[in-house]
Amino acid sequence: MKIGILGAGQLGRMMAISGYPLNHQFGFSGATNNEPSALLGRMFALEDNADYIESLVAFADVITYESENTDVDMVAEISKNIPVYPGEKSLFTTQHRGREKALFEQLNIPCAPYRMINSLADLTQAISDIGLPAILKTATEGYDGKGQFLIRHKDQIKEAFDSMQGVESILEGLVDFKRELSLIAVRGIDNDHRYYPLVENTHHNGILRLTIAPAQALDPNIQKTAERYMQMLLDEMDHVGVLTIELFETAHGLVVNEMAPRVHNSGHWSIEGANTSQFENHIRAISGMPLGDTTLTHAFSAMINIIGNIGLTDIALSMPNAHLHLYDKSERADRKLGHINLTAPSKAALDHSIHQLKDFLPN
Ligand code: AMP
Repeated sequence: MKIGILGAGQLGRMMAISGYPLNHQFGFSGATNNEPSALLGRMFALEDNADYIESLVAFADVITYESENTDVDMVAEISKNIPVYPGEKSLFTTQHRGREKALFEQLNIPCAPYRMINSLADLTQAISDIGLPAILKTATEGYDGKGQFLIRHKDQIKEAFDSMQGVESILEGLVDFKRELSLIAVRGIDNDHRYYPLVENTHHNGILRLTIAPAQALDPNIQKTAERYMQMLLDEMDHVGVLTIELFETAHGLVVNEMAPRVHNSGHWSIEGANTSQFENHIRAISGMPLGDTTLTHAFSAMINIIGNIGLTDIALSMPNAHLHLYDKSERADRKLGHINLTAPSKAALDHSIHQLKDFLPN
């Protein structure tokens, strides 16, 4: 099949790398040869600037995308001609934190208390309803902790409101969590679905730095509960492809933070760590192929992000259980440039390997 990807970043790059062995071809909406997906397929905005979406759609049998910030009207328009997966409902819901939270509430999925904010008066009222501390976030477009303001004292209300620069925002109560987890699942056109194990994510300054799969010392009921939430969301949105939900593990159980209608950074470990990677499973799902097994290839796996500068990657290349993935991006502060996957037969061996790569991690 010919698969058209809206976007041309590292997620598109890894989708294409996983899809070529299945005999798929790829085209991207990318505009330059500097994007991570360039050279992995046709770059339609580079070939034909004027009507590049039309050209991409003419090329493709099916369209997918890399980001929940993809224009939903454009997707609706494209869907009149060829399938777009995940579909409009998934995209529309997940690109707005308020719509996402409303769906969690509708399905009785626990999430932080929240209020939508369109004025300073809204924010003042919301704080008296929810209390402090609380986090103010832009309703759309935020990523890697950007567009967020942690409000601890009432005297920060005006500063927090001004930092949103007039865009719609959402105030969320601060969740007291033990750790952050995520669940990745894939659903096929035929409604078959598979789950990966819950993984444990460590962030620094809002950016994911380390994922450990599976999450350690996890009560098996927690995996079951997360899968139940996931299944309701997949079914409700009639989702096709990979869906990720980010969760907080608290003393009282799981609280869902947000979701993404796409392959996710916390699933990159699955390239070598699972029998079928999240990328391959997404491509299988949207192209109507049978889904692949999501079992781990080794007892433990981890993913370390390479952020800002490439660093001494030869260390990883000398380790038998490490796999380097670079995205062909230039160095810049806080930029995701690549990642290193690790596999190990025991937690002690995994910890030892992570320690060998400690220079890639913040203190
Ligand atoms: P997000 O962009 O929503 O994923 O938020 C980025 C990070 O901020 C999360 O990974 C958490 O570490 C933290 N965070 C976001 N929302 C909350 C919340 N309601 N309570 C506690 N921490 C949060």
